[in-house]
Amino acid sequence: MGIHGGNSTPNWIPVNKSVTGVWKNIASIENILNKTNVRLKNLLVCESHQWNWVLEPSGTFSSKSLKDLLSKSADSPQKWLVWTNLIPLKVNLVMWRAQLCRLPTLDGLIRRNILVGSDVCPLCSSAIETVEHLFTGCEIALDIWSQISSWCKIPQLFCFSMEDLAQIHNNLRGCKSKAMVVQAIIHTACWVLWKARNDAVFNKKKIVTQKIFTDIKTLSFHWVSNRCKMGVGTWENWCNFDFQM
Ligand SMILES: [Zn+2]
Repeated sequence: MGIHGGNSTPNWIPVNKSVTGVWKNIASIENILNKTNVRLKNLLVCESHQWNWVLEPSGTFSSKSLKDLLSKSADSPQKWLVWTNLIPLKVNLVMWRAQLCRLPTLDGLIRRNILVGSDVCPLCSSAIETVEHLFTGCEIALDIWSQISSWCKIPQLFCFSMEDLAQIHNNLRGCKSKAMVVQAIIHTACWVLWKARNDAVFNKKKIVTQKIFTDIKTLSFHWVSNRCKMGVGTWENWCNFDFQM
């Protein structure tokens, strides 16, 4: 890992606005990791002014080592958890929590007496909000999966569980790299849906399906085109889902 900071040994990653890349990525997931009882401070040590990642012998951060740790630390590790390097860590982590039903949806908060009030889905207002409902049963999610199917030129997506959503890349014919791009788009869609849900709950923002879909397209283009070695072409290629891999 590179060094960001002065000559003294820092107590913690000196992340500031001018720092980019892996540092910003790692710092951005600290809060999410805290919610899963994984302490980032236990995974990084500072030696000779250099931060080292304790899960790799080389000291270099790898998202795979973090995924392996999270899978082991989960109460009931799921073999089908999917992690993709085409999108940021924070997105993988939200998907990971969703796959383990660990997102703080209204049904769980009410069951644990943390929240008193309505447990109705803030997206569609017509069912109890659970993780599976939000991402697979909600009419807003169904609309999004339908639009993604048309855009990515794949058979209509029908998902009944988080496992179905996580396994889509395995059920697609043709190029495996392109299938992983579709999976990255699905992860991005869950991230955007969860953000829209939070905006509706906490900021009383209106749900506009077309905006959710546009955000998914824009964010996934930004993330995948920056991380995919083979490239996904121009924005126009992306919008037509027309690129070679
Ligand atoms: Zn709903």
